[in-house]
Amino acid sequence: MISVESCFRRVIKHLVTSQQFDTVLANGRVVDPTNNIDGVFDVGIRHGKIAAVSENIAPDRADDIIDVTGQIVMPGHIDTHAHLSSPFGGNVDRAYGHAMLVESGTTTALDLAGDPTAMATGMVQRGAGLNVASLMGLVPHSTISEDDPRPSVLRDVISDVKTRGGFGVKMLGGYHPFTPEASADVVSAANEQLAWVAFHVGTKNSGSDMTGLREVPEITGNGRLHVAHINSYTRGMIDQPHEEVQEAFEMIERMRSQWITEAYLAQANGTNGKCDENGDVIYNVAQNCLKARGYPTTDEGVKQSILDGYGSALIERGGRVIMVTGQEGVDIFEAASTDASLSYPVNPPTSAFTLATAKYDDGTFRVDAISTDGGSLPRNVAIERSMALVAFGALNMDEAVTKLSYTPSRMLGLLNKGHFSEGADADVTIVNAGTGKASMSLVAGELIMLNGRAIGKGGTWMVLEDGKAAAESTGLPYQVVDLENSKLYANWN
Ligand SMILES: [Zn+2]
Repeated sequence: MISVESCFRRVIKHLVTSQQFDTVLANGRVVDPTNNIDGVFDVGIRHGKIAAVSENIAPDRADDIIDVTGQIVMPGHIDTHAHLSSPFGGNVDRAYGHAMLVESGTTTALDLAGDPTAMATGMVQRGAGLNVASLMGLVPHSTISEDDPRPSVLRDVISDVKTRGGFGVKMLGGYHPFTPEASADVVSAANEQLAWVAFHVGTKNSGSDMTGLREVPEITGNGRLHVAHINSYTRGMIDQPHEEVQEAFEMIERMRSQWITEAYLAQANGTNGKCDENGDVIYNVAQNCLKARGYPTTDEGVKQSILDGYGSALIERGGRVIMVTGQEGVDIFEAASTDASLSYPVNPPTSAFTLATAKYDDGTFRVDAISTDGGSLPRNVAIERSMALVAFGALNMDEAVTKLSYTPSRMLGLLNKGHFSEGADADVTIVNAGTGKASMSLVAGELIMLNGRAIGKGGTWMVLEDGKAAAESTGLPYQVVDLENSKLYANWN
């Protein structure tokens, strides 16, 4: 005798399990540390969400089956440091970064920074299906009226950025440094409004290196801060790289409840070669790149470094940005009247390795995430280099996925991403287990990349509540994010 209740339950169960899936990713190695999954499974997607991770989904229940036998199926890569718009000008359209990031397997990015309005325009024109949140870079006399902005000015600028669809602001200490006092005011003004605040370190008293990082605990005060690309300050400018990494770790541990951090794995950096009327290189980052190999910090030094193949100039080719050296690179630098995007191989692999792999005794990572600092810079290697670390035995697969997807989702407060729980967003990166490169990716269940080619269009703009109207006016799909859920503002009151 079957009770009415259990009969009813059986009917419901039958209805649920017999539902169709829009897409099934069949027979891949599914890695989802949040749900303790690492094995061969099928992933069923319905209405843009993860509907099932199961050993065997009957083919007749799938409207579309994608065979991913032998490939790694992971929650989509969330890049917490990318460049999709620019406050610098320069000679490269940053919107090319959408396709470039997508082709490396990324599904969600924080544009760091940038300008939200410019990012959205770029997404409409050249978007490739990414989810993107945007920050505005603070550039005196360009995006903010004062050299060392007063708190009242900062308050208005941050509130305006949120209304225009941004998450918050970034200080560009390696390019447009403030005083330490004004830098601290930026942190507190952003914190007061629960806006994002990121810092490429360096003030008028220091540089874009360990001297800049040493100031950041005091600048942070009791606040919260995203300290950008830790690897950029551990290039061996002050001490040996491994000594700088250890000092950075001590600071990060001390500020563990207040900072969020990322580091990238590419040797190539990104900078700008702009020179003043005397031919002297203006920006601290570019000066450091030249000094590192003994070149004069002048336009002649830049040219010689490019001729020698040490420096590269960036240029658009075929809808992507590439690096060019030699005479051709010099020509690009000159055609841009020195205001050219450049790249130098200044990130030591030893720093990159340690920053990516070091953990606390409790097993959590000292640096939260592996980022690219790429997008429009051709160094979107977060996934393939993380997979190389897995092959090397320096990370296990769960740890790689944690640093590429789960922890970044927590950093940004994207609770529905970074894992494959039922109902999670069907953002998926599929990685060729042989090459370690992404072969395919999906956002909200739709393919945006196939065999290394971007096939998505537009994208989803992630905004704060205040940015809803701006997002609606673009016609782009959008998602409202509450930074109270972010690791940046965890336990903030
Ligand atoms: Zn950057």
